[in-house]
Amino acid sequence: MHIGVDIKAKIMEDIKAAIREFEARPDIKTRFGTPTVGYADTRNPIFDMYFSRTISDHPKQIYRPGNTVVVHFVPYAPEITQSNKGGTEPSEAWKTAFTESMWLSMRLNGVIREALDTVGRLSSCTNTPTDWNEELCREGWSHKLAAYAAGMGKFGPAGSFQTEEGFAGRFGSIITDGQYAEAFDPLSADELEAIYQEIQKQYRYQEAGGPICGQEMIKACPGGAISEKGIDRKLCQAYCKTIDEHIPSPEVCGKCFFY
Ligand code: SF4
Repeated sequence: MHIGVDIKAKIMEDIKAAIREFEARPDIKTRFGTPTVGYADTRNPIFDMYFSRTISDHPKQIYRPGNTVVVHFVPYAPEITQSNKGGTEPSEAWKTAFTESMWLSMRLNGVIREALDTVGRLSSCTNTPTDWNEELCREGWSHKLAAYAAGMGKFGPAGSFQTEEGFAGRFGSIITDGQYAEAFDPLSADELEAIYQEIQKQYRYQEAGGPICGQEMIKACPGGAISEKGIDRKLCQAYCKTIDEHIPSPEVCGKCFFY
């Protein structure tokens, strides 16, 4: 009897091995925690909602034969997260982790694609690391919205994402023609609208409306981008641009992610 490869187990093992190898490099300073991997069906109508609300590209737009988005998250070691709490500048460890985790994430995409190749699956990357749209104040494709669709957690301030392993770390994703996601709920238009509104509230951007940010969070923002009404994404982006000219994402600052 032929017993097939447990591809999800293989992907996890290969990811863990790649992280160990990456951390062993003498030029790498960042230490990482336990990775998580999620699987979302590209036919889930939640992706159509993201696309029609222009909060993310659609996976089928990126890779037509794709049936599953494989999302990976590698948390930073806790001391890196703590080093970024308070102050007006991102900590050195946070900045280094941002850059090094980007290299790791690219490597993990390669590792997952190689694993999928062993079971005859096609796959495609979702974006380039510097994919950032300054008009929309977001990346074209959102790994985190894919993570949300895969049930990996919920959003936090400025588009941060809270997983079981915390909010600090690096997301990446690839799309494959293999079918690995759990069955999704057939969501009605009203349910999709409710999910959209919930995500907007979790982001705590001003557009969501209502007093949603406390004094501590307002004070924690070095960019003056937070008021009681919420986060002003343009002001946030302007501040983040002073840290990283090419990727002015809230990830490079992250001071409000703790609230
Ligand atoms: S500038 Fe920093 S603290 Fe302020 S909203 Fe943006 S990410 Fe959060």
